[in-house]
Amino acid sequence: MRIDIITLFPDMFAPVLGDSIIGRAQKSGAVEIHTHQLRDYAFDKHRRVDDSPYGGGMGMLMKAEPIALCFEAICGQTGKRPHFVYMSPQGKTLDQSRLKELAELENICVLCGHYEGVDQRLLDSFIDEEISIGDYVLTGGEIPAMVFTDALCRMVPGVLTNNECFTEESHFNGLLEYPQYTKPAEWRGVEVPEVLLSGNHQLIDKWRREKALEVTREKRPDLLE
Ligand code: SAM
Repeated sequence: MRIDIITLFPDMFAPVLGDSIIGRAQKSGAVEIHTHQLRDYAFDKHRRVDDSPYGGGMGMLMKAEPIALCFEAICGQTGKRPHFVYMSPQGKTLDQSRLKELAELENICVLCGHYEGVDQRLLDSFIDEEISIGDYVLTGGEIPAMVFTDALCRMVPGVLTNNECFTEESHFNGLLEYPQYTKPAEWRGVEVPEVLLSGNHQLIDKWRREKALEVTREKRPDLLE
């Protein structure tokens, strides 16, 4: 999968996505992440990427043309039109089932907004989907884009060492994950549930399924509905 990110702050991404699992996935070629500096596509007299909103009001808006030019340049690089996502507090809240669907795509382009947002004409004519990471407002789309990219990349085949890593995890099948324990078997007087030491995988699977239901019922009853 190739992900192109349009942003005014490309330097924010490498420290987060260049390390750990996603960093390794980039090195192995399982995913490609390209950031694009929007300012490089501002060709008007003052090379502006933002301007004041018509009708007045506070703050600045990102102009349509630099974003359009940047996206068209990306289309030229990839040879096909990527699915174009705008990170926005007005979008549909991101969840695992949408990530599962999007992980099937080969090319995704992510637009990070800033200031008061983006000229509506660009959103209407270029954007395929608006995605929110929750009902609150951040200063820019960079952190949401990192959240989205991380969650998306880990579902791409070859990124995690074992697919079960995510198929067993919270939200993949609508449940939260069962409790997990590591060594030592007794820690400060608290023992690991005996079944996990039994070596009986049928029993362990049954216990985990029951615990997943219990944890979901307790922490997120809305998921069971
Ligand atoms: N004026 C906009 C509104 O009220 O809908 C909010 C603009 S916000 C200050 C600036 C940028 O941050 C947005 O364009 C968007 O890209 C990003 N952003 C803020 N909150 C977000 C969220 N919850 N999910 C995704 N992106 C968000």
